[in-house]
Amino acid sequence: MLFIKCLNKIVEKITHMQSIILLLGSNLGETKQNLVIASQLISKKVGKIDRSSDFYETAAWGKTDQADFLNQVLILKTELEPLELLAQLQAIELEMGRVRFEKWGARLIDIDILFYGEQVLDLPDLKVPHPFIQERRFTLMPLVELVPDMIHSVLKVSMKDLLDACPDKLSAKRLDKSEA
Ligand code: ATP
Ligand code: CA
Ligand code: CA
Repeated sequence: MLFIKCLNKIVEKITHMQSIILLLGSNLGETKQNLVIASQLISKKVGKIDRSSDFYETAAWGKTDQADFLNQVLILKTELEPLELLAQLQAIELEMGRVRFEKWGARLIDIDILFYGEQVLDLPDLKVPHPFIQERRFTLMPLVELVPDMIHSVLKVSMKDLLDACPDKLSAKRLDKSEA
């Protein structure tokens, strides 16, 4: 396992590929279809998806008087630099018809960068790791499904331990494959 991890790191260095983790969210229209289309566009324009979590049906966070969200985490590799990646993801959101109404409001598709390798960025338009990971059950649950032992590059705590300590009480329900 350690050997494979080291090998992956070497391959990433040679090819300039970075391993990234994205969070998809949707609470307008055909939410499942929106996540599927977003995945397809990401595969085409950002990089082939290595692993994707199940879908999670989650109560809206931050602005709670709106429809439940469907969330999913994706893991992939990309050659795009962080700001190129952000621009590409925002272009996909726009292409899919996202309109920005209000902060944390309803949306057809939201694509957040949770992690960009182990990089830490605090730019005006891009904070990585995403600043709210540890406060959101709907983000931590799919992360724990895919990478329970991964250590947060700033907090130095595993995803599993972050979920155990998460103060968020909003529901996040993992959907069975048959329900999804
Ligand atoms: P939140 O980031 O709290 O989940 P949101 O997804 O509703 O909120 P948006 O309206 O989608 O917020 O994005 C607002 C801005 O956040 C974007 O224009 C982008 O520049 C910035 N941003 C900062 N860090 C990130 C990140 N890690 N991933 C995506 N966008 C980010
Ligand atoms: Ca978001
Ligand atoms: Ca966003």
